[in-house]
Amino acid sequence: MKFNIGVIAGDGIGPEITDEAWKVLLKVGQVYGHEFVRTDILMGGCSIDACGEPLTQEAIDTAKAQDAVLMGSIGGNTSTSPWYKLPPEKRPEAGLLKIRKELGLFANLRPAYLYPQLAEACPLRSEVAKEGFDMLIMRELTGGLYFGDRYTKEVDGLMTAVDTLSYNETEIRRIAKRAFDVALKRRKKVTSVDKANVLDSSRLWRKITEEVAKDYPEVELSHMLVDNAAMQLVKDPAQFDVILTENMFGDILSDEASMVTGSIGMLASASLNESKFGLYEPSGGSAPDIAGQGIANPLATILSAAMMLRFSFDLDKEADAIEDAVRALLDDGIRTGDILPQSGDLTGITQVGTSGMGDAVCDRI
Ligand code: NAD
Repeated sequence: MKFNIGVIAGDGIGPEITDEAWKVLLKVGQVYGHEFVRTDILMGGCSIDACGEPLTQEAIDTAKAQDAVLMGSIGGNTSTSPWYKLPPEKRPEAGLLKIRKELGLFANLRPAYLYPQLAEACPLRSEVAKEGFDMLIMRELTGGLYFGDRYTKEVDGLMTAVDTLSYNETEIRRIAKRAFDVALKRRKKVTSVDKANVLDSSRLWRKITEEVAKDYPEVELSHMLVDNAAMQLVKDPAQFDVILTENMFGDILSDEASMVTGSIGMLASASLNESKFGLYEPSGGSAPDIAGQGIANPLATILSAAMMLRFSFDLDKEADAIEDAVRALLDDGIRTGDILPQSGDLTGITQVGTSGMGDAVCDRI
C-alpha cells in the first residue's frame, strides 16, 4: 500500500532522529511491500528563521493533505535562543499548539513501558520495578482547563484570576471511545481517572464513560480519583493498562508515568483526530544540549513511527516488527549514551550513536 507522510523534522536533534525513523520506515516498506512518500514540512524555530513565523498556512495545508505526520521536536535553548525573545505567539511552541488545533488532534496517547533490559533506570524500588509495567495514557487534548474561558481582574478590591474547566458530553464520549478502542488492541482494561468527589465536570466524565463502556463488554472499566492515581503510578504501576483522563490530569500523570520508566529517549507519543489521521512524535524535546553531535537516541521517534503504522495505517504486523526489533537490539546490548547501564559495567554492551541505532533497528526487521 502507499501512504503519504508529512515529516516535521523541527529543531535541535529533530532532524537527526526523524531521519533514523524514516530509514526504519523505508526498511519496513521494503520488507512488507509498502510505499511511504515523504513530504517535509517546516515548523518551529526553523520556520521562524525561514518564514518569520513558527507555522505557516501553507505548512498547515500540506500537513492536512497527508495520511499522517511524523515529527521530531521543536524549540531551542529557552535561555539563549533568539526565538524566545519573540512574543509568545511567535515562538516555536506556538506552532505546535496551532497545528494540534488545526488538525483537530483531541486524543493524546502516551505509552509508558518499562523495558526489562532498562529496568535499572527506573527510579522505583526494585521490588516494584521488577514487576515491569506497560501502560498507555489516553489524555484529552483540546478541552478542559487549558481551553476554557480565563481572566484576571479586580473583584472587591482584590486581584482575582479565574480559569474554567468545562467538558461537554460529545468531547467526553469521543475520547472515551478512543480509550476503549485502544484497550481492545491491548489487555482490555480502562482506568478512568477523575476528581468526581469534587468536580461536576468529573461527574459527567464518569457518567458518559460508563455509557460508552456498555458498547465494549469485553473491556473492564474502573474509576480512580486523580490523587490516588498519582500515588498508584509509583506504588503499583503494573496494575494499569489504559488510563483515560482529561487534559490537565493527563498532562501531569503522563509526565509522571514517563519519568518512572527513567528513559526519555524511549518514549513515543501520538495525537489523533476523529479520523485515522495522527501526529506522531517522541515525548522528549529538541535537546539543544546534544544537537548535531550524532548521539541522540532515535528510538522514541522510531517507536512513534511504529504507533503511526498501528493507529493511522492499521499495519499491526509491521508495527510489531519495529517494536520487536527494539526489544531484540536491547537484548543484544546495543545502547545510545542516554541508556547505558548506570552501574558503569559495560560488559556485553555496544555503544552506538544516532545513526548506528537506526541501523540496529533496520538490521532486525
Ligand atoms: P528536552 O527533552 O529537550 O531535554 C531534556 C534532557 O533530556 C536533555 O539533557 C537532553 O539532552 C535529554 N534528551 C532528550 N531527548 C533525548 C534523546 N532523544 N536522546 C538523548 N537524550 C535526550 O527538554 P528541555 O531541555 O526542557 O527542552 C528543550 C527544548 O525542547 C525547549 O525549547 C522546549 O520547549 C522544547 N520541547 C519541545 C517539545 C516538542 O517538540 N514536542 C517537547 C518538550 C520540549
